[in-house]
Amino acid sequence: MLDLKREYEFMRDVINNAIRKTLEHQQWILGPEVKELEEKVSRYLSVKHCVGVSSGTDALLLSLRALAIKYKGQEYFERTDEIITTPFTFTATGDAILRAGPTPVFVDIDPQTYNIDPQKIRDYLTSNGSRVIGIIPVHLYGQPCNMGEIMAIVREYNLFVVEDVAQAFGGIWKGKKLGSIGTAGAFSFFPSKNLGGFGDGGMVATDDDELAELVRMLLKHGGKDKYNVEHIGYNSRLDTLQAAILLAKLNYIDEFNERRRKVAQIYNQELSGINGFTLPLMPTADICCVYHQYTVRVLHNKRDELKERLKREGISSAIYYPLPLHKMKVFYGRCKTGDLVEAQKAVREILSLPIEPLLTEEEISYVCKTIRRAIC
Ligand SMILES: *Cc1c(COP(=O)(O)O)cnc(C)c1O
Repeated sequence: MLDLKREYEFMRDVINNAIRKTLEHQQWILGPEVKELEEKVSRYLSVKHCVGVSSGTDALLLSLRALAIKYKGQEYFERTDEIITTPFTFTATGDAILRAGPTPVFVDIDPQTYNIDPQKIRDYLTSNGSRVIGIIPVHLYGQPCNMGEIMAIVREYNLFVVEDVAQAFGGIWKGKKLGSIGTAGAFSFFPSKNLGGFGDGGMVATDDDELAELVRMLLKHGGKDKYNVEHIGYNSRLDTLQAAILLAKLNYIDEFNERRRKVAQIYNQELSGINGFTLPLMPTADICCVYHQYTVRVLHNKRDELKERLKREGISSAIYYPLPLHKMKVFYGRCKTGDLVEAQKAVREILSLPIEPLLTEEEISYVCKTIRRAIC
């Protein structure tokens, strides 16, 4: 789906130099690049604090653990506490909730954006939501959630919000960078993400001094002094080498996200008007989608056929995700669910097409022609 070698070729010298610098100083654990990356990303997002951690999953988990410590004075939330999120996401979103203690409540998605439907959040809160403590919206495929509605809800009900920004580095909702709007934002630097390292990595963004301090403690075994700790912590540091590579790649992120938008624009033009084939929603002018994926909907009896056909013609495509979270064994008996009709429908119809910053016009055109031949 993504040609990482092509990206490396494109920025080879900058990355090689960044790695060479770390070889010279040999400060592998929380070296100077980690701090520099935290400062640069803070400025990029306009947030007070960014804290590097070892993965996007840990960014979610440590944010939640820090919230439990801050708001409940407890290491973990209670099983009776509830966090509302989407069932249409990567496992890590739900798994982080389970590991921090509370019960995930899955509410349905908006069929056009594939993101959590704010009305469904409201429905749950008004009918049965007295135990809800927070919301985790996921900006899926790089498409911003309706943060206006979500922030209005959390103010009304006094909840926290942890944005799952794993797929949306650089995305913007009405002038604000994603990950800077909620109580905290959890980023992933997994290699295939829009800003990806050469291994695992993640980051927590927040304006809250106390939360930032707690995440910093949790990632280093749970204390300011690792020989005298206060909390049940982790070894979850962002690697110096990854930070160096990410600093080099950060210089390209806006250009690369712009290239992704260009690819999406060409797909939109070339693939419009095909019967039974739905293109992703075009964002309005004040919303900036970073197209981590370009995902179409194909009437489900044709979806798998099309995927096979593309494969035979040398084109990769992917199904993100084949199962909603509530259908996975790990969540059986450990979650609550509303009516999830749209999420269940989406998993049978969605198909993500190749999208990457360095995709050529000929390649895009080949994908589109092949799709038209297969479907029309
Ligand atoms: C990738 C991803 C994560 C987890 O990030 P890792 O760095 O792989 O741990 C969490 N949520 C979503 C939506 C993701 O796409």
